[in-house]
Amino acid sequence: MADFRLETVKCKNCGSGLVVEVNDNIVYCSSCGSGFEILQEGLIPIEINFAAPAIRSEGEMIYKPFWLLKTTLTILERKASGAFLKNLFGGSGESTSGNITFYIPAFYCSLDTLRNIATQYTLKNPVASPQKYNVSLKGFDYGKQDAMKLSEFLLISFEAEKSDVMKNFRYDLIFNSMEILGIPFYNLGNGRFKDAVLGTEIQI
Ligand SMILES: [Zn+2]
Repeated sequence: MADFRLETVKCKNCGSGLVVEVNDNIVYCSSCGSGFEILQEGLIPIEINFAAPAIRSEGEMIYKPFWLLKTTLTILERKASGAFLKNLFGGSGESTSGNITFYIPAFYCSLDTLRNIATQYTLKNPVASPQKYNVSLKGFDYGKQDAMKLSEFLLISFEAEKSDVMKNFRYDLIFNSMEILGIPFYNLGNGRFKDAVLGTEIQI
């Protein structure tokens, strides 16, 4: 806990005092629902919404931040399609372009954990109607640039399941918008968390 420090800033929308962990690059105002990126030039507005819990479990509920990246993917060249893209492009496997919403954890976790939960959420896209909640949202370790790189990592890791495909996989990924989604988790103790939308257990 040696490097754990807090700062306060004022919400640019409603003036409420906001407590920020020093490493966080995003802050959410639970008073008015505004979100801000914390940049050198000040607080820059960013959309922050939340997923509603869908399953019950034991343990205290907390919200963890994900980047929601709305993208358009165009496949320029590939020999065969992995199941990932077939699912995302509507099942036919014929399409070469489509929209994908990537869900990338903004909080620190192992690469295996990140890949597991990002995959499930990106494939199932289970949060159709995010909403505002009066809750705390903290632990923003990965910024926009990280989230974009991790989206590409996810995309490539799916195609790489068929290793013969890799050398022929060329794509164009356009990031249309980026926002934050708070996903509810149950704290099961000992670093274990279970998300309240899909029921995925992760170890942090
Ligand atoms: Zn506010």
